[in-house]
Amino acid sequence: MAGMTRTPFIAGNWKMNLDHLQAVAFVQKLHWTLKDAKHEEGSVEVGIFPPFTDIRTVQTLLDADKIPFSLGAQDLSTHESGAYTGEVSGQFLAKLDCGYVIIGHSERRQYHAESDEVVAAKVQAALTNGLVPVICVGETLEEREESGPTAVSVAQLTAALDGVPADADVVVAYEPVWAIGTGQVASPEQAQEVCAALREVVAGTLGADAAARTRVLYGGSVKSGNIASFMREPDIDGALVGGASLVVDEFAAIIRYQKHVGV
Ligand code: PEP
Repeated sequence: MAGMTRTPFIAGNWKMNLDHLQAVAFVQKLHWTLKDAKHEEGSVEVGIFPPFTDIRTVQTLLDADKIPFSLGAQDLSTHESGAYTGEVSGQFLAKLDCGYVIIGHSERRQYHAESDEVVAAKVQAALTNGLVPVICVGETLEEREESGPTAVSVAQLTAALDGVPADADVVVAYEPVWAIGTGQVASPEQAQEVCAALREVVAGTLGADAAARTRVLYGGSVKSGNIASFMREPDIDGALVGGASLVVDEFAAIIRYQKHVGV
C-alpha cells in the first residue's frame, strides 16, 4: 500500500492565533512567497486551518485572488443546528467552502474532554456535510511507555472510523502528544511505524482502496529543517503543522520542499 501516488498535503493548524486582519496579510504573503519561488500548483496541497472567526474572510480572499489553498476548520459540532450555544455546525462550514475539518486534535481531547465517541460523532457530522475529516490520533509519553508506540493511535483511529463508509474521503494525522509544540520531534522511523499501522487500520475498516488513497500525515514540531526526513517515509503523505504554520517564510519553506525534492 505504501508508495501509491497521493498528493502531499501540508496543513497549517493556526490554533487560536491570528485574527481576521492578520489572516488576510498572512495568506496574501504566503501566496506571494510561493509564487515568487515558482511553486508548482498541484505538486502539493496547501491547507489553511484558521480560527472560526477568520474563515469567512479567508474564503473571500482565496476566492477573489484565485489562491489555490484548501480551507478547513479546527473543529465542528456533533449537531446540525439548534440550542447549542457556542457551537459551529458542519453545514455552516460547508457553506463557507471549507473542504476539511480537524477532528480529535489532542488539545480538544485533553482540554475539552473529547472522548473517542465524540470524535466518531464529529467524523460522521463532517461526512454528512461533505467535509473531509482530518482525524488526529496520538499517544502521550506515558501511554507509549505503557502500551508501545502504536496501540493508542490504532485504537483511536479504529473508534473514529466506526460506521464510516468505504468510499469516504478521510485524512489521518498521527500526532504524538509528546511532540506537539514541544520541539521534541518523533524520528522519521518512529513516525513511519505508526503511520504504517494507521494505514493498516484504514485497510481493515474501509478496505484496500481506501488505504491506498488515504493520506496519512505526521504532526509534531515539523519545521523546514525536518520535513524532508518525514516525507521520505513511504506511509507519510504530508504534515499537520502547528507553530511553524504561523511564520510565512517557514511555512512556505515546508511547502516548497515538496517541489524541490520531487516527493
Ligand atoms: C499541532 O498542534 O497540530 C502541531 C503539530 O503543533 P506543532 O507543529 O507546533 O508541534
